[in-house]
Amino acid sequence: MTGPRDPRTAPALAGWATQALCVGHDMHPDHPSRAAGLPTLAELTAIAVCKPCPVKTECLTAGWAEEHGIWGGTTPAQRRQALRAKARLNTRRRTA
Ligand code: SF4
Repeated sequence: MTGPRDPRTAPALAGWATQALCVGHDMHPDHPSRAAGLPTLAELTAIAVCKPCPVKTECLTAGWAEEHGIWGGTTPAQRRQALRAKARLNTRRRTA
């Protein structure tokens, strides 16, 4: 999510985005995460902005399924990995 749909970059911030510490920072680094899931330097730079952010939970909730950008201090690769782990866990629970 970028542009007007991204609450962190909307022209008029509202709700949790008013407390976002990343306003004015690039939270959509161009370089995708490496296949191994290790964050790139650009992603680490963006994630450093998130560390003291008071709305990390709200941000991660909003961006959980986003394929691009840093949300709640996580990279797209980290979110994909977590979603796959959750799907595996759900499958095991259904078959147990
Ligand atoms: S957690 Fe990071 S990306 Fe989300 S609002 Fe805070 S600073 Fe921005």
